Amino acid sequence: MEKFDLNFLASIFPNHTDYENKEIYTIFRDSREKVQQGLFIPIVGERFDSHEFISQAIENGAVAILSSRTELTQIPEGFPVFYVDDTIEALQTLANHYRHLVNPIVVGITGSNGKTTTKEIVASCLAAKYNVWKTIGNLNNHIGLPLTVLSMDRNCDVLVAEMGMSGFGEIELLSKIVEPDFGIITNIGESHIEHLGSREGIAKAKSEITCGFKENSVFIYDGDEPLLKTIEPRPFKEITCGFSKDLDYVIDDINQHNDQTSFSINSEALTIPLLGKHQAKNASFAYALCKELKIDVSSIKQQLNQLELPSMRFEKMDALNGSTIINDAYNASATSMIASIDVLKNMNYNKKIVVLGDILELGDFSKEDHKRVGQSIDSSIDEVLTYGEESKYILDGLTDNFAGKSKHFINQEELIDDLKQELDENTIVLFKASRGIKLEEVVNQLV
Ligand code: ATP
Ligand code: MG
Repeated sequence: MEKFDLNFLASIFPNHTDYENKEIYTIFRDSREKVQQGLFIPIVGERFDSHEFISQAIENGAVAILSSRTELTQIPEGFPVFYVDDTIEALQTLANHYRHLVNPIVVGITGSNGKTTTKEIVASCLAAKYNVWKTIGNLNNHIGLPLTVLSMDRNCDVLVAEMGMSGFGEIELLSKIVEPDFGIITNIGESHIEHLGSREGIAKAKSEITCGFKENSVFIYDGDEPLLKTIEPRPFKEITCGFSKDLDYVIDDINQHNDQTSFSINSEALTIPLLGKHQAKNASFAYALCKELKIDVSSIKQQLNQLELPSMRFEKMDALNGSTIINDAYNASATSMIASIDVLKNMNYNKKIVVLGDILELGDFSKEDHKRVGQSIDSSIDEVLTYGEESKYILDGLTDNFAGKSKHFINQEELIDDLKQELDENTIVLFKASRGIKLEEVVNQLV
């Protein structure tokens, strides 16, 4: 489907070669990708400058390029080139113009944990009424977000965009690209604390989501987090969600059974096929948003009932000897690890084992945060196995009343051998670690 034409590009980037107008169907940055009617945007990275691969991009379907290089030798006579100072900035500028051209309702989502999950819940709830486009996978940074915007169709009604960051100023940039109609902050944890100094710093950086707000934009956030509140008046509508009683959307009556969590939001009974209080919270943001958009409660209920999440996020799997594995190894912070262990505590199995790998990027906070995870574990967990370097500090946090077995592993094979002997039909094992630890390799050996 057509996205825009070269005249649209020329209106944004006036420094260009002579061209014959053409439609653009795809925007791409990987010259190896085969596309139809593509606009190739060569990114200059630390190791590669994709301007080197322009001829390959043309072979693969580019009909125009943006370029920050003025001497291009590989371009056929008459090929449309739009010159820019910096191709990444140009990608972001183009994304902002395309956002206005399509003009969907834009939902921006940030937070330390639960961005992708909330994005999926929001997108599912809105799909009953709207043509929804959402971030694919985790494409949530200064390049991924504009590519997400540019991959949406012209007839899209709602864009649900995940926004990630590791330092100050990044969410501001992303927010100004998409200019959210709704900005959601799921929670404040400790991820990236090494760059941001403190939880206050993290809250400030996430709050940059309001920098791109328009006059009628609405801020929806975790009302249980004091750091997100302010006594200063803010020039936009605010909606708070959470467990505290004084919020706009109050979650209550939480009940976990089998593979579902039931709860109420402002006394309306709801069920999601996901486990944990934190998932009820993620659902509450979607609920608040849907209410703002005047979607029927019956439709929200139905969509929440049949949610499906991407893999490795608390994914329940059958494993060796009739045992059960929960693969939550997509990523981890101390907050999300504690949340996942809490869910396991409330599950009905005879033997509960947690396999916890390192939480990365904690800098000076590493020892303390790992220890805090250990402190959250009580005697409802039967075994704590840690794997990696830093995760050994989890064991330091185990309290005296932790009655079970605990052991640290640095060797993957030894961990797998140990686990193989433990698994039977009464056992459930939770796997959680930062992505870099690759705990899924252990999971794959056991399912
Ligand atoms: P990333 O920064 O990698 O993009 P994310 O913010 O998109 O992460 P998800 O992928 O949705 O987060 O979830 C990651 C983990 O965080 C999940 O495994 C889950 O255990 C935990 N989690 C999800 N929502 C919350 C929440 N509201 N509070 C605390 N932990 C949460
Ligand atoms: Mg994510």
